[in-house]
Amino acid sequence: MYGTIFWIIIAILLFDFLIENYLDYLNIKRMGSKIPRELEGIYDKDEYSKQQAYQRENHRLGIYSGTLSFLITLAMFVFFGFAFVDSIAWSITSHAILAALLFFGIIMLASNILGIPFSVYDTFVIEEKFGFNKTTPKIFISDQLKGLLLGAVIGGGLLALIIFIYQKTQNLFWIYAWIAVSLFSIFMAMFYSNLIVPLFNKQTLLEEGELRNAIRNFAEKVGFRLDNIFVINGSKRSTKANAYFTGFGAKKRIVLYDTLIDEMNTDEIVAVLAHEIGHYKKKHVLQGLLISLLQMGILLYIFSLLIDSSALSRALGVETPNFHIGMVAFGILYAPVSFILGIFMNMLSRKNEYQADTFAAQHYNPDALASALKKLSQKNLSNLTPHPLYVFFNYSHPPLFERLKHLETFGQRGAEFSADDSVSEV
Ligand SMILES: [Zn+2]
Repeated sequence: MYGTIFWIIIAILLFDFLIENYLDYLNIKRMGSKIPRELEGIYDKDEYSKQQAYQRENHRLGIYSGTLSFLITLAMFVFFGFAFVDSIAWSITSHAILAALLFFGIIMLASNILGIPFSVYDTFVIEEKFGFNKTTPKIFISDQLKGLLLGAVIGGGLLALIIFIYQKTQNLFWIYAWIAVSLFSIFMAMFYSNLIVPLFNKQTLLEEGELRNAIRNFAEKVGFRLDNIFVINGSKRSTKANAYFTGFGAKKRIVLYDTLIDEMNTDEIVAVLAHEIGHYKKKHVLQGLLISLLQMGILLYIFSLLIDSSALSRALGVETPNFHIGMVAFGILYAPVSFILGIFMNMLSRKNEYQADTFAAQHYNPDALASALKKLSQKNLSNLTPHPLYVFFNYSHPPLFERLKHLETFGQRGAEFSADDSVSEV
């Protein structure tokens, strides 16, 4: 039995690696193809070749890091590396929770260290070369350390809690663990902006001025409170622009990057904001949270059926089953399920993006949003012609081309809104 599980694990790892590389290959092969009519004029000739070079360099780095990570993971299974780390953990402590924390601590730290050269190359070579990078070595190091610390505190805390629940409740462990993880997820979704973001960035309220007035007019009209809109100093790390909606209830918040505000005119910024308010109106964050809680329940239930089986741990070369070794084997066996769930989540997310675009088009101005999206793609050197299959599997947002086509169906309808609101162009 454990022999079969071993080979299933290897097959899953291989399949995952091959499909990812195949999709990447399709995407890169499509580069340089003719730009669709809707997208003409976004890049001039020089910018377009710059964009292509940027995509190529990122693709190359992706292949190197993906291949290395695949080979190391494979070696960990083939040469029983997890059994080795497991024996180190047990040689230090006989306490199950401490052993699990040590086990994952060693693996996470090692994988972090292996990832650093790729991260450094990405930030200080590729992003630097194409003029995006603003991260100083000091910020980079402190980000890495904070990330490790957060992972240790949050990941370690949750792991300890789940094993503790398992020890106390056995059969019904998955229900109690599900309740605990759900409460934690809801707490994090609410307080993410208050607890996590400030560790990395500053968030400030909109400054008085023309932009704030334009935003106030729009926000009042659609019933969104102005003091839930924040500006974040994304320029600390990169010139790339973005905006997002987060939290729910009293803790909801729209966050605009300072880089977005620098690059766009008032009309475009309000259009982006309208898109984010669309996510709020359609309750997308709440929907995402509920779906992920449901998925977590299913995952914990299946895990609870397998956790005591010695076949899982023996497939990894460990004789007596234990919780953390079971988690590693289960993590790989569950990958095909999460791969398929991921496809559905991306489909749902793309549908939600269209809904938010529709909201912005109907309540503000489709042209302003189209112009903002084009500008974002141009400044971020986005790929204008991704392969449809790549999009199907990997994109959480529809490609620019599809979004513009969708926005075109609204015609000029919203344009009078901005005139009424006396929104002037910067
Ligand atoms: Zn969106």
